[in-house]
Amino acid sequence: MVKLENMKNISLSDSVINLDHGDPTAYEEYWRKIGDRCTVTIRGCDLMSYFSDVNNMCWFLEPELAEAIKELHDAVGNAATEDRYIVVGTGSTQLCQAAVHALSSLAGTQPVSVVAAAPYYSTYVEETTYVRSGMYKWEGDAWGFDKKGPYIELVTSPNNPDGTLRETVVNRPDDDESKVIHDFAYYWPHYTPITRRQDHDIMLFTFSKITGHAGSRIGWALVKDKKVAKKMVEYIIVNSIGVSKESQIRTAKILKVLKETCKSEAENFFEYGHEMMKNRWEKLRGVVKESDVFSLPKYPEAYCYFFGKTLGSYPAFAWLGTKEETDLVNELRRHKVMSRAGERCGSDKKHVRVSMLSREDVFNVFLERLANMKLIKSIDL
Ligand code: PMP
Repeated sequence: MVKLENMKNISLSDSVINLDHGDPTAYEEYWRKIGDRCTVTIRGCDLMSYFSDVNNMCWFLEPELAEAIKELHDAVGNAATEDRYIVVGTGSTQLCQAAVHALSSLAGTQPVSVVAAAPYYSTYVEETTYVRSGMYKWEGDAWGFDKKGPYIELVTSPNNPDGTLRETVVNRPDDDESKVIHDFAYYWPHYTPITRRQDHDIMLFTFSKITGHAGSRIGWALVKDKKVAKKMVEYIIVNSIGVSKESQIRTAKILKVLKETCKSEAENFFEYGHEMMKNRWEKLRGVVKESDVFSLPKYPEAYCYFFGKTLGSYPAFAWLGTKEETDLVNELRRHKVMSRAGERCGSDKKHVRVSMLSREDVFNVFLERLANMKLIKSIDL
């Protein structure tokens, strides 16, 4: 029998729990313990100008943040920062749209096809369809994509929703019209072993999923090509005339503290995050094993250069499947658990995406409900 702790939370016992969004509140406890070391004081007269550094092509990027980003990637070893432009965005959501815009505007013919291998991060669909741009067109699943002409492949690794490690699947190496955006939102040591220093043309990162500070809305892109970086900057200027300085300053401060903790045994954030995720995954796998109707992907172990040992992967989302012919998102809903439908991610009704980053009490209620679930056959085949 799997032991589930802290189950008796009266306020949660009957309410709907939302594990549809990946709201990363799991890390609040850690930052509470860090206390005032991350506190930033901003006076009324501070940070008033639109401009941060007029000598930088990305003139709305705070130098302090640029420095903190480079130092963190250096300390973790997950991405190359040299000979690259850093573009800051209001979350990597804005940067993904800026990158799609930039690559499309530089393409010879339009609309440029945009694809991602299923199951994919469902927000890519909204990002590429919502404004009905004539410059690019969402073409869905990259597996089997064979349309001629310019295209952009979005590669998410580790992948949201299924946690797998990904590379491009379209692969037209000699084609000038083939472009790739690498979304590395989850390429951090608490989620996956750091097996190499990534070195691609456009790499996206988000503050949201490293430390859990999604509310600050900060992301950054590491971009090799000056023309692409310039177009991305233009997009952000038109879209929001830059990015909140308050957020950038707070992010810089927290990233610096985060980097310092990498050297500490007792306070290492990644160690803390890794242990927490590992623990949650073990509990979830225990419930799934006993249920006999659910399934989860298996992940290979790999040597992590950050931790200096062989480790497993503990993704930020669980890609939960069922062996029964049932509409899983509705079944979970019946048991007061909101999740993201597999169909929204280009997959099927028998899969859902469940956030692993909720607060501990919510996560435990989820496990309890999952353990008690009896599925009803609801798909007509
Ligand atoms: N990419 C992926 C793969 C994500 O999961 C997320 C967050 N859910 C984002 C980008 C966007 O992150 P944000 O806008 O919060 O920086």
